Amino acid sequence: MTKEKYIRDNLRKTLCYKCGASLERAEIVPISNEASNVWVAHAVCPKCKAESMVTITPTGNGIVPVQSDLKGTEFKKFVGIKSVSYDEVLDLHIALKKDRIWNLLQKKEKNLVKRRKA
Ligand SMILES: [Zn+2]
Repeated sequence: MTKEKYIRDNLRKTLCYKCGASLERAEIVPISNEASNVWVAHAVCPKCKAESMVTITPTGNGIVPVQSDLKGTEFKKFVGIKSVSYDEVLDLHIALKKDRIWNLLQKKEKNLVKRRKA
């Protein structure tokens, strides 16, 4: 099975958190590294336009609502991860559950500022 088909298959089984539609035809912006065996993407529901982060891993799939005005591509820029480990995806997943995405991004920005000053 090609990776693309694998992802499509998994997206079909992933349902929108808001309206329950399959995300097979969702607008997808992949965020994870190509070579990584975990796949993270920003998805926009084809039906209700609800935004979410989808993770597809060998051990299961997840979906977390995203509440922000950022577009998928902008989100990718903010996250700015070159390669994603399984632990990092879990961290992101847990963080997204706890916090609104906008708060996370603001924290990330602050960290970047700190690093630049150091
Ligand atoms: Zn939906």
